[in-house]
Amino acid sequence: MHISLSSPDISSEEMAIVKGVLRSGSLSIGDKLTKFEESFCAYIGSEYAIGVTNGTSGLHLSILAAGVGENDLVITSPYSFIASANCFLYEKAIPIFIDVEADTGNIRPDLIEECLHDIERSKKYIQKYLPPSYKCMANNRSARLKVKCMIIVHIYGQPAQIGQIKQISQEHDIWLIEDACEAIGAKHNNEKVGRFGDAAVFGFYPNKQMTTGEGGMIVTNREDWDVLLRSLRNQGRDKSGDWLSHSRLGYNYRLDEMSAALGLAQLMRIEELLSKRERVAAWYNERLKSLESITLLNLAQATTRMSWFVYVIRAYDTKCRNYIVNALKEIGIPSRIYFSPIHLQPYYMSTFGYRRGDFPVAEHLGDVSLALPFSSTMTKSQVDYVCDNLRKCVSKYWRR
Ligand SMILES: *Cc1c(COP(=O)(O)O)cnc(C)c1O
Repeated sequence: MHISLSSPDISSEEMAIVKGVLRSGSLSIGDKLTKFEESFCAYIGSEYAIGVTNGTSGLHLSILAAGVGENDLVITSPYSFIASANCFLYEKAIPIFIDVEADTGNIRPDLIEECLHDIERSKKYIQKYLPPSYKCMANNRSARLKVKCMIIVHIYGQPAQIGQIKQISQEHDIWLIEDACEAIGAKHNNEKVGRFGDAAVFGFYPNKQMTTGEGGMIVTNREDWDVLLRSLRNQGRDKSGDWLSHSRLGYNYRLDEMSAALGLAQLMRIEELLSKRERVAAWYNERLKSLESITLLNLAQATTRMSWFVYVIRAYDTKCRNYIVNALKEIGIPSRIYFSPIHLQPYYMSTFGYRRGDFPVAEHLGDVSLALPFSSTMTKSQVDYVCDNLRKCVSKYWRR
């Protein structure tokens, strides 16, 4: 039985729609992107939506809109996909990683608050939060170290404690950006993610709940950000300006028409896509809940809608997790270590001096978690096949 780790869900109508765009000859800066953006606004309930080349470029532009620059401090989670931290390193900002909740993998609001109180109390407390290689900066009187922004990731498609975090961001006057790339349609206390931050970013890579191939979307309610973001994604051109007039340092982060048309069609059946994933997750839950030495993902009380992005389980320990990954691989079932914490990536260790032990909960999750094959197109018999083999691997592990 062939099983892939993830798989896009593209209908024959969607294939025809993309072909239609190719026939039209209008391949960029056309009405497909405008329509996709308008529908996305309506879906989230936001004022503005700006289509971009991918989730990473969307995060990068959001950082620029927040005015984040050299030596600004940005609070975020070490337990995420690399892009949620890389996006502000592009602007030479400094990470303040805050550890995560053990049950959900989302950032801990109480630790964010503690950090902000410490930093506001006295400069000497900043040292505790700076990356190891940057700690000496706290002694430099002229260094103006200010927390400018938070990037809050909704990990695996489950909302972070975003209501509480929004309140903290307002009390401390810090920009709030949601990395909602894994969480389209997820709801926190009945409110969709993407409605809490000054901006939120969605991603449409082929393993996400909906796809455009490569693609992303920024949403915001701020008119000034909308204007700025449209200019930044389009080579720094102003709305009224001509093709070769560039008011600021811009980028080419535009989403093309084929991608926008596919995105619009996928968005039109997003409920179908999400509920198919929900059904596959429920099959997994049912079959794995009684499997000893495996822990399933915990949903927070405030998660009134989970948007299943990946199906992640936790093994008893690292040895057991690695054994399972290899044993599944031998029988042709792919799985993935998900995530390896950001601060332990080679670039972060060498640039910032992070070490194992810095963020123990993120590290523990990185040590025991694995993502099983998961997509909306998976059948019940495929889930059965994965679960039967997983069960066998686990018992083999204990009988070694
Ligand atoms: C997928 C993802 C992104 C964006 O990735 P792109 O491949 O650039 O679209 C950003 N953050 C997180 C947490 C993601 O999972």
